[in-house]
Amino acid sequence: MPDLQIEKNKSLLAMNTMALDSTAEYFCSASTLEAVHQALSFAKRHNLSVTPLGAGSNVILATNLSGLVLHLSLKGCESAAPVGAAHGSVDVTFAAGENWHDMVLMCLDRGWFGLENLSLIPGNMGAAAIQNIGAYGVELSNLLVSLQVVDIQSGAVLELDREACQFSYRDSVFKQSLKDKYIITQLTLRLSTEPNINIDYPALSAYFVELDREPTPQMVSDAVCNIRREKLPDPCELANVGSFFKNPVINQSALAGLQSVEGKGKVPSYSQPDGLVKVPAAWLIDKCKFRGTRRGGVGVHDKQALVLVNYSNDADNDSAREILSLAKEIQAAVKDRFGINLEVEPRIYGPV
Ligand SMILES: Cc1cc2nc3c(=O)[nH]c(=O)nc-3n(C[C@H](O)[C@H](O)[C@H](O)COP(=O)(O)OP(=O)(O)OC[C@H]3O[C@@H](n4cnc5c(N)ncnc54)[C@H](O)[C@@H]3O)c2cc1C
Repeated sequence: MPDLQIEKNKSLLAMNTMALDSTAEYFCSASTLEAVHQALSFAKRHNLSVTPLGAGSNVILATNLSGLVLHLSLKGCESAAPVGAAHGSVDVTFAAGENWHDMVLMCLDRGWFGLENLSLIPGNMGAAAIQNIGAYGVELSNLLVSLQVVDIQSGAVLELDREACQFSYRDSVFKQSLKDKYIITQLTLRLSTEPNINIDYPALSAYFVELDREPTPQMVSDAVCNIRREKLPDPCELANVGSFFKNPVINQSALAGLQSVEGKGKVPSYSQPDGLVKVPAAWLIDKCKFRGTRRGGVGVHDKQALVLVNYSNDADNDSAREILSLAKEIQAAVKDRFGINLEVEPRIYGPV
């Protein structure tokens, strides 16, 4: 295998969807497990920290990154009948560097179902487990069987099952106790060979309200793509990282407090299995009148208040500072008006 190409002072401008002008002290792209090991050995020899990078659609690079930025570009996909599982499902193993949406489409094509509600989420397969990606009523954790990971310190290759990942809403063990400890190189999902339609999510059921039969998985995927394209800016046209904040999950008495101020029936909320309620962060931000706001070269998208956008996609170091300052302004306004803390969703590198 050829030696790994290590670059110095590599610009990451084109490698993050917020189009922030950050530089990696060292950079390499690993397309095989062996290359991942070589990269980790290089980092160890030179005493460098390692930052894994996928498609850069959930990072705010507010500083230059010291150490080695390791881009995961492993490709491939294999399927197998699940051991001991009921007929009607297939276990599909994806390499970390495959594009998420391409794999959703490939699975639909092969008659492997379950991913259609997660159509058009940017990013690569490897990162999907980090924040347990989710949309339109489905989360990665509903489908995940196991992950292959490499321990950054020891280089050991391990397999983690779903339980070990400790998934919850936009969260996993990789954002908590195992933060920055592992590189994810593969993930295995259990998909169904029979359509298993889930259109309970309000925007999806509304989309099909006039259809007099159950939609096919392809129709669900198309619907999700259409709804997303209408609401969310395409990062290739307007730099963004999707939702900037998580939807806050609050208890019943906090909800009652909100309703007493805003009016009963005026606060959108979604009951959670544990008795808590999720309130859309977009609604809270909208109420604070931020939708369409601009501050310098950045702003809040005019169709979706949860999305912060960077209008200046040239090399402009100030965008990161402006984005973080706007995020703080929004958090303070929401806290002030509703007493709710908004938690940032993407990983911020640099001063918070
Ligand atoms: C327009 C838009 C819409 C979006 N919609 C959604 C949505 O509906 N639902 C949702 O959940 N998310 C959404 N996102 C967020 C994003 O798409 C996901 O979080 C995605 O999984 C990020 O993948 P990535 O490859 O770009 O990760 P990156 O941004 O490259 O990395 C994210 C984090 O994961 C780490 N990481 C990346 N790859 C690996 C690896 N192989 N091993 C270990 N660590 C790794 C990085 O170090 C970083 O901390 C959206 C983003 C955009 C821009």
